[in-house]
This record gives sequence, C-alpha cells and structure tokens, in this order.
Amino acid sequence: MRVVKTIKQLRRAVKAIRLKGGKIGFVPTMGYFHAGHLSLMAKAKRECGACVVSIYVNPKQFAPHEDLGRYPRDLRRDSTLAEKENVDILFIPSDNVVYPKSFLTYIDVEKISRTLCGQYRPGHFRGVATVVAKLLNMATPDVMYLGQKDAQQAAVLKTMAADLDFPLTVRVMPTVREKDGLAMSSRNVYLTARERAQAPVLYRSLNLARARIQKGERSAAGIIRFIRKNIARHTEGKIQYVACVDADTLGPLKILKGRVLIALSVFFGSTRLIDNVIIPVKKPREVQN
Ligand code: AMP
Repeated sequence: MRVVKTIKQLRRAVKAIRLKGGKIGFVPTMGYFHAGHLSLMAKAKRECGACVVSIYVNPKQFAPHEDLGRYPRDLRRDSTLAEKENVDILFIPSDNVVYPKSFLTYIDVEKISRTLCGQYRPGHFRGVATVVAKLLNMATPDVMYLGQKDAQQAAVLKTMAADLDFPLTVRVMPTVREKDGLAMSSRNVYLTARERAQAPVLYRSLNLARARIQKGERSAAGIIRFIRKNIARHTEGKIQYVACVDADTLGPLKILKGRVLIALSVFFGSTRLIDNVIIPVKKPREVQN
C-alpha cells in the first residue's frame, strides 16, 4: 500500500495503476475506521481491482459548535486496517493541500441539501459536496463507494456527480451494524456506557416501523409518531427529527409509497446519532394478495 500526502504523489500512483489497465474504486472517509469503512474498501477492491482510500477530516463540513476538534483520529491504526484490506493507495492530505489560501469555490446541491440533517446543519452538505468534488478530481476513480448509513450524503453526492457530469459510477452499500443493531460510526466512541446501551433502540424502532408498514400502515405521520414514542419510551435521547421521505428525491411523503426512506437523528448527550432504513412500499392491494 502506498501512503501519499500530496496531489502530485496521488496522481502519479493512480497513473501507475491505470497504465497497467486497472480500474479504480474510491472510498472517501474521515478515518477512524470501523467495519463499515472496511466493507466499502473490500467492495471497491473486489469490483475494481484497485482501491484508493482518502482520510480527511474536512473542516468545511463542521459548524463552529460541532466536533471538528475532538473528531476521533488514529492514522496508525487506520493505515494497518487499510493495508489488511489490500488498499492500493491511502491518501492523507493536510488542510493546506485541500484548501490552499487562494481557495474560493464551493458546490451547493440545492434542495436535497436542505432537508433532513441539512435543516439542522446549514452548510454541512455544501462542505461535503465541495470536498468530495475535489477528491474526485484528485483521485479520478471509475467508481465511488458510499455508505447507506449517511443516506442524505449519498443522495447529495449522487446528484452532484450526475449534475456535474463526473465520469464515474456511484455505488451505495448497506449499513454495517454492531451485533445489537447500532449502526457503526466513528462517533460511537463518544457514547457513555448508558447511552451505548440505549442507542440500539433507534434501529429497533425503525424495524418496528417497517413491520407496521408491512402490515399495511401507509400514513407517514402515523409512522413518525410511532417511532418518536418508541424512542422516547426506551431512551433518554433527544430526538432531532424523524422523517419519511422519497428515497431518491428526499421529498416529503404524507402517504407512504414507492421507495420510502425513514431517517432519524437523535442526540445522546452531545453525541448526534443518525440511522435510516429504505422500505419498498407496495400499493395496498398488492399487500393483501
Ligand atoms: P465517514 O468516515 O464517517 O465520513 O464515512 C466514510 C464513508 O463510510 C461514508 O460513505 C459513510 O457513509 C460510510 N459509512 C460510515 N459508517 C458506515 C456504516 N456503518 N456502514 C456502511 N458505511 C458506512
């Protein structure tokens, strides 16, 4: 595995793979790897032959009151884990490589950046889209691999790639979970033992909601009320939002139909956890048959 820090080194290493006729799969991350990250690397390696991973904690996607300063970091451990996944290139740029002093250009994916998490984190997806556009131009991959855990991020980046004609495919892979259902996240290390014990209720609530929908429930408000009640009853978490939206457009739904994304964000202390499920909803008649 080559560990590179500058754009020039990255381009040279990518070119060497291309000269051998290899395809490149790219996994952008903020590091502090867990099995979710590693699943994306394994998939990229399997499907493309070569895998480029970036680790960059992007300051432009954190608001001033958010956890940029204390975001967990362990480059040595990350590097060992990436090597085990047979990653070809690990790109670890510093802030001045990504954002030189002259930097002025931002990407704003309108509308779908404003709903769900975007309502509460203004500017977050602008930061994400900007840095990922830059990383894509640096790494020039054939395929970019993203996790379903960050459903809105995946939708924003898919839209950006399509709208700006990035010559690549975006693949969104399933959420990897702990045994008790908690979605893996670098931020889970912030949880106290008590919060950690309560956190699996989020996924449990989403699954209970899925069961209700499968039994015929079609009211978004009903499902949202049910999930909110369940989280309030079994945890001390503070709900930021629970929403039912169209999985592709992220547009709001009153009646559940098509591919429904149920997404939520809950604070456990100062730790913000997100989770979601996508549920294909058939028309009521098809359910009865
Ligand atoms: P991050 O380092 O949190 O920015 O995440 C890097 C990539 O890993 C993003 O595409 C995430 O959606 C993805 N990811 C994070 N957690 C998980 C998970 N539990 N399962 C699958 N993918 C994940």
